[in-house]
Amino acid sequence: MSKSLTGRVAVITGASSGIGEATAEHLAALGASVAVLARRTDRLNELVARIEKDGGTALAIAVDVTDAAAVRSAADRVAAELGGADLLFNNAGVMLAGPIEELATDQWQRQIDLNITGLMNAIGAFTPQLAAAAAERGVADLINTSSIGAQNIYPNFAVYCGTKAYVTHLSRQMRAELGPKNVRVSALEPGFVSTELQSHVTDEATVEWLAGAREALEWLAPQDIAETVGFLATLPPRANLQQITIMPTGQT
Ligand code: NDP
Repeated sequence: MSKSLTGRVAVITGASSGIGEATAEHLAALGASVAVLARRTDRLNELVARIEKDGGTALAIAVDVTDAAAVRSAADRVAAELGGADLLFNNAGVMLAGPIEELATDQWQRQIDLNITGLMNAIGAFTPQLAAAAAERGVADLINTSSIGAQNIYPNFAVYCGTKAYVTHLSRQMRAELGPKNVRVSALEPGFVSTELQSHVTDEATVEWLAGAREALEWLAPQDIAETVGFLATLPPRANLQQITIMPTGQT
């Protein structure tokens, strides 16, 4: 594999499983030094060990991204130990779907806290590093994981889709500010991807709906998203894909 990201420093949130884990491995294989952030330390340490075994450089930082001070400390460690980030894959997220009339307000709040506030905490902590890297080297990347739910209507997913519409629109707004400073901003909107995401859903009807969707079509693999992130980061500095919707071929 070509080492097209050699010299770059990538931070990946939600790196202990699914899309984030696959993307950390892929960016490391492309030559980037990677800082992997999530709460499950054991999973992060296993990931770092695999990357290092393959000759890469990785730093595990156990952090709950809903804790703004903890994310700022993580950013300080990235600056001190890897020399500052020039790529943030802002990816940690949770999906807790169910009918709005169930009033599962704790689940609404968990999604808002992580998908919006956690995402903003990472933006707040790492944007200064991205801007500094872009000023010095001419390019940096902020890639936010949104969802096809930001575009389409899915009954019972209103709060989750609302958080992801926020991510897509925020990304477009931020791009207008940061693009002129050579920081590319992209919103990545996957359809169904086989990960742990769906395993947290407790509403029975939604669990059944998801099981039906799994039987009906072949879902994306996390590697498909990882390669898309690698593609975005290796475009010429003049090119910025603002919004990428990637779905299983059979998903409508
Ligand atoms: P996973 O459940 O496998 O990954 C979620 C990641 O987020 C885990 O690494 C988890 O690690 C981390 N995380 C959860 N809570 C926190 C927290 N408070 N602080 C830090 N990290 C946290 O699902 P995916 O890989 O599928 O999800 C990644 C992103 O992709 C999400 O934003 C999701 O909404 C989005 N997405 C996924 C789709 C899919 O079909 N899978 C489709 C569209 C978008 P830990 O528990 O160790 O903290």
